[in-house]
Amino acid sequence: MDDFAQASAVENVTCPFCGLLCDDLTVERDTAGALRVGKNGCSRSITFFERGTPPLLPRLGGEDASLQDAIAGAAEFLRRAHHPLIAGLGTEVQGMRAVTSLADKLGATIDHMHSKGFMRNLLVVQNSGWLTTTLTEVRNRVDLLVIIGTDVVSLLPRFFERVVWNRDSLFGQDTAQREIVYLGGQNIDTTAGIAPDGRKPEVLPCEPERLPEVAAALRALVAGKKLAATEIAGIATTALEKLAERLKTARYSVFTWSARAMDFPHAELTVQNITETIKILNQTTRSSGLPLGGNDGDVSINQVSAWISGYPVRTSYGSGHPEYDPYHFSTDRLIDRGEADVLVWISTFDPGRIPPATNLPTIVLGHPGMKFDQEPDIFIPVGVPGMDHRGVLFRMDGVVALPIDRLRSSTLPSLGEVLAAIEQAL
Ligand code: SF4
Repeated sequence: MDDFAQASAVENVTCPFCGLLCDDLTVERDTAGALRVGKNGCSRSITFFERGTPPLLPRLGGEDASLQDAIAGAAEFLRRAHHPLIAGLGTEVQGMRAVTSLADKLGATIDHMHSKGFMRNLLVVQNSGWLTTTLTEVRNRVDLLVIIGTDVVSLLPRFFERVVWNRDSLFGQDTAQREIVYLGGQNIDTTAGIAPDGRKPEVLPCEPERLPEVAAALRALVAGKKLAATEIAGIATTALEKLAERLKTARYSVFTWSARAMDFPHAELTVQNITETIKILNQTTRSSGLPLGGNDGDVSINQVSAWISGYPVRTSYGSGHPEYDPYHFSTDRLIDRGEADVLVWISTFDPGRIPPATNLPTIVLGHPGMKFDQEPDIFIPVGVPGMDHRGVLFRMDGVVALPIDRLRSSTLPSLGEVLAAIEQAL
């Protein structure tokens, strides 16, 4: 049993603050319970682990309140609601189980803060399927990595250290010889793509909103078509032809992209052009996709939603059974059109993820460090999973679920405990 009053260094800590779930951190705890990242942290993990969380009472109607009163107040709001929306959903597996149970009881709709990007990928899976891979496969097999429209590291800071420039690989590959191509995007920081021997990555930039043309052109070239244009979105067609040839001769190419960063209309069609290119390549060699994500629990909560209801989020329990609609059940739409009458906003990892501005009665269950422009009707600070209580998170590739541990003494309840108490009080 851990004695949280003792100073100690905890090894092999799993970091919950991005979809990589690095499990090699050392986190030191002093006698006052303050945490410090000792080994293997990135700047994000240091910011999140070392952020102090002063004791904080729940807030009810703009005043400090007891936890019991705040729970009773939340239950009262929800009892009167006809169409509650439970959104944000920055939580882990156990928290999401409690969300789903409450949504079922209330007839609520559930949606995640990163669904806009997540849905761009999901629409492709539902429409035409895709071939994707895991971090482990990338770590052990990739020889050509094509990074589309993102720097990767602003989402997953240790991506290159952990899965690209890793020194050891299972099959004796010389990982330092891996080739990196950044395709699309402007002013992307490509420093992380420089090989250990100083080789620079190839960079083929274009305006982010012109990525659809580039992805379509690359698909056509890989399929053996000829293009009459001499340039596509500022990229020479000859450069794209060379890339198509490199992809055909590579033994294991991987395309990676951030659907969240593809903020232009019908971005799912660009994702589909990437995934269809991968299918063509697999007729003669090996190629896979690696969609980036996993932050704020987005992969985990969709896994839980899928195994409980058969659907991802943007699912409503309003008609007495789960009903999925990626368009009608988006947070923005439900709020803008006045179709929800109470908002429950959840963000347990990141205090910066505050609820959208709205006139709806709002209940926030979140990180104790949250600061609001507009104070919600009820704020219940809850523990941070992986620091204040245990939990389980899925890695960004969705194939590995890792336990996250408690690292310090905390009086904060977990999200699951608060939601269960609200459900009981209804
Ligand atoms: S890369 Fe992600 S999981 Fe790894 S230490 Fe940084 S924030 Fe944590």
